[in-house]
Amino acid sequence: MTLQVDCGKVNPATGCTTVLQAETEEELMQKVAVHAKDHGIVEVTPELIAQVKGAIEEV
Ligand SMILES: [Zn+2]
Repeated sequence: MTLQVDCGKVNPATGCTTVLQAETEEELMQKVAVHAKDHGIVEVTPELIAQVKGAIEEV
């Protein structure tokens, strides 16, 4: 099972086309935290985590 998050679906305002994939939700959230820095987001808030989790797809 692969979990995937399309950054542009989490926040369409960014226009970001990055797609992050990982085997587990924990690993995926770590990648999200790293990628968030590319958007100047240094703190992954509970609100952001909820948004990201709502956008996770199984592929
Ligand atoms: Zn992005």
